[in-house]
Amino acid sequence: MKGKIIKGIAGFYYVHVNGKGIYECKAKGIFRNRKIKPLVGDDVFLDSLDENGMKGNIIEILPRRNALIRPASANVDQAMIIFAAAQPAPNLGLLDRFLLMMERQELPTIICFNKQELISGEELDRLCSIYRGSGCKVLTVSVKQQEGLDQIRKILDGRTTVMAGPSGVGKSSMTNAMYPDAEMATGAVSEKIKRGRHTTRHSELFSIGNDTYLMDTPGFSTLYLEGWEKEDLKYYYPEFEAYFEHCRFNGCNHLSEPDCAVKEAVAVGEISSERYENYKLFYEELASQRRY
Ligand code: GDP
Ligand code: ZN
Repeated sequence: MKGKIIKGIAGFYYVHVNGKGIYECKAKGIFRNRKIKPLVGDDVFLDSLDENGMKGNIIEILPRRNALIRPASANVDQAMIIFAAAQPAPNLGLLDRFLLMMERQELPTIICFNKQELISGEELDRLCSIYRGSGCKVLTVSVKQQEGLDQIRKILDGRTTVMAGPSGVGKSSMTNAMYPDAEMATGAVSEKIKRGRHTTRHSELFSIGNDTYLMDTPGFSTLYLEGWEKEDLKYYYPEFEAYFEHCRFNGCNHLSEPDCAVKEAVAVGEISSERYENYKLFYEELASQRRY
């Protein structure tokens, strides 16, 4: 049988097999020789150990398309970050931290603003325009008014998506609205995700449809920039790229250097000032981090 590892706890791997369910598996020794540790998201071959019970043994890990360090997982296709347009007001600094984390792992990211009905069309356009140069797809929805859910479903279907966002933005409501067939499962999932949010660091995938998996990102409420060189930060802002070569200095960090084309672009509104201001904050944060 072929399946996907959705969770790993204390030497057991939980493998989801389409149409059959979840098998509790061991990975009998075969991974000890090869230096490969099974990851959540791994596609595997497994043997069923008993016909009626749901126990199995993983016999092979299929080649990975990618592996993320955070959250630890394999074969993730994309990340979707969900914020509310209002209630709670979006914390754009947190959003940017998440984008940096994903950009660094080269994972395509979709930004989704829910509760769009709570702000005016102009306000919504302004919010979206902050991210127009970010390289991310930006979508707006209202779960309450059932607006924009088709586009989200289209993006999620058949893929494995890391979903993240602060609590209260409508993640559970959205999942339930989009996958009513998986309602029971998702209801449990949402509860689990909620309860687990602050207590667990395990990654776990949830099957919400045909070949469609969602993963919550634990510990999302604070994201430290770990292991970054401050001078590298600028390369993770796609909107800076076109201006680099016009700065006076090679390797300009776009801070206090004279004749900086990035700063000029911010001044005339070609680069979003919100994104730039947060860039400066992150740079300072990294500059002040103690090195050991
Ligand atoms: P989660 O913590 O991100 O999973 O958020 P929930 O799905 O629990 O939703 C938090 C609150 O926001 C609930 O009271 C929802 O009814 C509400 N909510 C969800 N979507 C919308 C929306 O589109 N508009 C409005 N006004 N409220 C919404
Ligand atoms: Zn510059």
